[in-house]
Amino acid sequence: MPTYDVIKHHRPRSAYIHVPFCLKRCGYCDFSIIAGRDDLVPRFLKAIDLDISRSLEHFNLPPQLETLFIGGGTPTMLQPADLEKLLTILLRYFRLEDRAEVTIEANPDGLSIEKQRILCQMGVNRVSLGVQSFDPEILERLGRQHTPQQVVDVVEHLSTLIPNVSLDLIYGVPGQSIDSWKKTIRQAISLQPTHLSTYALTFEKGTSFWSQRSKGELRQVGETMEIEMYQWTVKTLEEAGYQQYEISNFAKSGMESRHNCVYWVGEPYWAFGPGASRFIDGIRTTNHRSPFTWLKRIESGLQPDDYSDDLTSEERARELFAIGLRYLPGVEKSRIRKQTGHCIESLLQSELSALMKKGWIEETEQAFRLTPQGRLFADEVACEVI
Ligand code: SF4
Repeated sequence: MPTYDVIKHHRPRSAYIHVPFCLKRCGYCDFSIIAGRDDLVPRFLKAIDLDISRSLEHFNLPPQLETLFIGGGTPTMLQPADLEKLLTILLRYFRLEDRAEVTIEANPDGLSIEKQRILCQMGVNRVSLGVQSFDPEILERLGRQHTPQQVVDVVEHLSTLIPNVSLDLIYGVPGQSIDSWKKTIRQAISLQPTHLSTYALTFEKGTSFWSQRSKGELRQVGETMEIEMYQWTVKTLEEAGYQQYEISNFAKSGMESRHNCVYWVGEPYWAFGPGASRFIDGIRTTNHRSPFTWLKRIESGLQPDDYSDDLTSEERARELFAIGLRYLPGVEKSRIRKQTGHCIESLLQSELSALMKKGWIEETEQAFRLTPQGRLFADEVACEVI
């Protein structure tokens, strides 16, 4: 029976920190966040400090990181002094390698010049900015708090301080025309970010968008239009010099998100904060999603864990394959064998032959990868193999 031995000794070189504060919950968001509770920031900072120190107490030296990702929520909603404190805590427990990638997620509103300077001084070298649209009506429908002009001002200044600025955009928003989306993409390109992520809007259970759709107050964009938006985006961004390297991600040469690649290729990583999932020794463990439960557990000396997925090696191989296909270079056959002991060609023989017959995946000497047609059906491909 194949085992995880190959990866069990492999110590994480990446860490994710979840900061759950937001000004207001956007209509489509189902992340672990709390809105309008800035009073909890001091307790959160103490708890993060405590949680990391307990988790790393058996290390004699601070572990080295190749990538650190501070996400949320809106981490840059913290006041400048708290932002500095958070970064100081992280740099006390982890040692960054020379070329480490340090990313923070930010929203254009509230990302003052003072905060931008703090990020730069503390070693943040990548900012992922939640822009979503340059159309004021679409921004309002999504429940976003910023204006298109704020994006322009922030990106122009931020790009003088931080070498890698990525913009997140959303398409397939109810009421969004193809024309509105094309204008958004063109305006994004005109700001010359180094990286762009474009996501199709999804309706998640429990969100206000979900209930509005159930009541008929929001109409989902049709699949044909969504595909048209996606294909136009891929073509336009490639023409503008952005290489697509994942289903939803495009980068100038050398500016790909190294942290996200860790997830796509199944490398281990630490994670701290409410709802954050870590992957260590072949086991994925997820913290309590409720920021209040997470806080109380840490303050009472308890583990913040909610549940663990201790997958069998076969389940893990299937999952690695499904996630890895999102990464356009594909899934290396030798990597799955090394990580799980399974030969993917034998394990997924019938699924692979059905998917190849549909023209959704192709095989090279070393890897399997999605075809351009298969990229439109990545979720369906994942369902087939898991
Ligand atoms: S800003 Fe981001 S994390 Fe916060 S509510 Fe909106 S989508 Fe969710």
